[in-house]
Amino acid sequence: MLNKPKILLIYTGGTIGMRKDFDTGALKAFNFSKLLQRIPELKQLDCEIETISFEKPIDSSNINPEKWAKIATIIEDNYASFDGFVVLHGSDTMSYSASALSFMLENLAKPVIFTGSQLPIGDLRTDAKENLITAIQIASLRENNKPVISEVCLYFEYKLYRGNRTTKINAEHFKAFTSPNYPDLVESGVHLKLNSDLFLPIQKNEKLKVHKNLNNNVTIIKMFPGISEVVLAAILNIPSLKGIVLETYGAGNAPTEDWFLNLLKQAILNGLYVINVTQCSGGSVNMGQYETSTVLKEIGVISGKDITTEAAITKLMYLLSQEIETKDFKTIFETALRGEMI
Ligand code: ASP
Repeated sequence: MLNKPKILLIYTGGTIGMRKDFDTGALKAFNFSKLLQRIPELKQLDCEIETISFEKPIDSSNINPEKWAKIATIIEDNYASFDGFVVLHGSDTMSYSASALSFMLENLAKPVIFTGSQLPIGDLRTDAKENLITAIQIASLRENNKPVISEVCLYFEYKLYRGNRTTKINAEHFKAFTSPNYPDLVESGVHLKLNSDLFLPIQKNEKLKVHKNLNNNVTIIKMFPGISEVVLAAILNIPSLKGIVLETYGAGNAPTEDWFLNLLKQAILNGLYVINVTQCSGGSVNMGQYETSTVLKEIGVISGKDITTEAAITKLMYLLSQEIETKDFKTIFETALRGEMI
């Protein structure tokens, strides 16, 4: 008889485990063991579940690279003993965290599935139970004694997405996430519909490598008509800044005014990496398609292609933490490392 899959549930916080503060009425994180008591259905699942919780569960607005390292360490320490991992996390920054972890966990060969909910688990109309139960079921899927999924994913409202392709689109609807440039990996209905041809291939014989020291000397600049020279210059001249994600218009377009292009050119010559990402919610950067992006390409701006801003900023933090020569950085950034871009 085959052993039941072992799943580690990692509780970081988020609405799923929150309840209303008696005095203020605001939602705040509460004790994880109480949360589990509210889902007796977990006992019916055909897997063994163990749990581990952040000592102090957080609202995901308080997530940061140190806490990502904490999640990565929990996975690393328990990697050999478990078949899959489900990370309970607030939805607000879940796409950032799923993206970050996808880069931090190199050669991942087991499922790491982020999920959470829009309503606390104790709420009568909660979406937490379905999200949690199906996320655990998907993490338990095995074929020929191997995990079916071996990447960092995000499960929410009947869909499993590649984590680093997602973005939060709604603060109210149960369908809070979308994956604008990559199809759903699994759809949950009466049956689980697996789109297996879209999964990342299983890593063979490569040992898990965990990268914990992300470099956060980065920022995101969203272009808008009227952005001024003083503002842009002030940001680009921050001495410790190593890279920026520039959210441009449409297919990667930006103003052609001299002051703008000269500031960027000088910053790049001084060693700053500039990643061009579209501020549209779908589609890809294509520098050179319009005159308004031709110079960006010439001065060495890096194409983010169809990457999300969440994946771009975390990939930048990850690559800056690696010893990569300046001449290779652009090519490596423009290469899909974990299925995050075309
Ligand atoms: N503010 C919450 C958080 O991100 C929202 C949620 O969990 O959905 O932690």
